Amino acid sequence: MSEYLFSPQSIPCNTDYDVIVVGGGPAGSAAAASAAREGAKTLLIEASGSLGGSGTSALVPAWCPFSDKEKIIYRGMGQQVLKKSKEGSSHIPKDQLDWVPIDAEKLKRIYDDLVTEQGGTVLFHTVLSYVDAEEDPKSGLRNINAIVTSNKAGLQAWKAKVYIDCTGDGDLCAWAGAEFQKGDDEDSRLMPATHCFLLSNVDEYAYRNEPNLHANNPESPIHAIYASGKYPEIPDVHCCNNTVGPGTVGFNAGHVWDVDNTDPASVSVGLMKGRKLAAAYREALAEFVPKTFANSFLVSTGSQIGIRETRRVIGDYILSAEDYIQRKSFEDEICRNAYFIDIHGVKGKPKSEKAVHTIGRYGPGESHGLPYRCLTPRDLKNVLVAGRPISCDRTVLGSVRVMPVCLAMGEAAGMAAAHAGNGDGNVHDVDVKKLRARLREMGAYLP
Ligand SMILES: Cc1cc2nc3c(=O)[nH]c(=O)nc-3n(C[C@H](O)[C@H](O)[C@H](O)COP(=O)(O)OP(=O)(O)OC[C@H]3O[C@@H](n4cnc5c(N)ncnc54)[C@H](O)[C@@H]3O)c2cc1C
Repeated sequence: MSEYLFSPQSIPCNTDYDVIVVGGGPAGSAAAASAAREGAKTLLIEASGSLGGSGTSALVPAWCPFSDKEKIIYRGMGQQVLKKSKEGSSHIPKDQLDWVPIDAEKLKRIYDDLVTEQGGTVLFHTVLSYVDAEEDPKSGLRNINAIVTSNKAGLQAWKAKVYIDCTGDGDLCAWAGAEFQKGDDEDSRLMPATHCFLLSNVDEYAYRNEPNLHANNPESPIHAIYASGKYPEIPDVHCCNNTVGPGTVGFNAGHVWDVDNTDPASVSVGLMKGRKLAAAYREALAEFVPKTFANSFLVSTGSQIGIRETRRVIGDYILSAEDYIQRKSFEDEICRNAYFIDIHGVKGKPKSEKAVHTIGRYGPGESHGLPYRCLTPRDLKNVLVAGRPISCDRTVLGSVRVMPVCLAMGEAAGMAAAHAGNGDGNVHDVDVKKLRARLREMGAYLP
């Protein structure tokens, strides 16, 4: 590839906002709502046409557990979102906290309301495209002066006091000059993607009464499908599925390898492979499980492919597998987490369950703390990170990447950004005692 010297003429610059959140997944939606609730003028910039990230655009069909097997631990905004996402869904028991199915269309509206009811502004179909950052002489940290976005109105600059990176991939932090890690130690190999999809016109009675499709069930027809070799697109027996609406089952099934969400060419190939894979699943299920799926219809694949892993931004603290094993508590923790270490194998290393077997799942009532310092990129002054790219090692990413904990850390990041914006924007100087007290006041579980 050759180089092109890009020197744009002056572009419009908006200075209306105190806090700008980039990326409107679970972390970004909670962050924007929380910053706005603290009184900060807040803008949420989202590349797609809806909020919710992987839970809506990628059609992930279920919430990971909200409980530690005894009680709900992702409270505050997370609990509100869970409650609303169950409302009106008669097939979900009222007291169910774990693996609650997701109606993605409803969830989009829930996130719209979450942000706008707190006074946050959302800008859809707008992509972060450039970050103007330089060293702040006082702190020695890199400070963002402005960000540039692109959308149907062209290029635009935005200046705020504090920025929050909720892109899932750490785009904002990386482009501001933060150090990060990506993938495994050997050659940055990443966990595979999955292109989730919906089948409608499923026979609900048969679905309830035939063997569970999950690969952990030795009786699952997915084993016979894979062993038959008749559907070569289906790469393995990974098959999670949930009833997301009447006669409609959402699938998080199969793996698509070699997809790096920071490389659009690989994502483009992955999306096409994923669509073929979804069609193959429909055909295979119709053949092997005809009572349930013979008349099923492939309604949709996600508008985004599901991404499990890209960058992990280096923060003031790197949460480690050892912390997870020790169920460690921290003085500056902003939430608790109890999800198991869920690592999907990298290509050529399919032992996806290794980390789980080594570390083991938590028992009832057990959890670990997540320090505020995992949200503060070590090299940056006025930037927080929340969601999938927080500061952690690769093993723990397998746990903290899921949606309930992303909601909890997003709420904390939004609140911290508003507090930092009341000073000189340095997120490392936030009064964490005050932050934790305020999070508790807003319902967070911080024992
Ligand atoms: C296949 C799969 C299955 C999963 N299963 C479950 C499950 O069962 N339960 C569960 O709870 N979790 C599950 N997860 C994990 C979970 O869905 C994600 O890890 C979680 O959504 C991450 O939240 P986030 O807010 O960090 O990022 P995301 O949800 O990825 O949201 C990031 C948002 O930022 C936007 N964005 C990105 N870059 C830019 C940019 N440059 N400019 C503007 N906007 C941008 C994106 O469009 C997106 O909306 C699964 C993940 C995958 C991939």
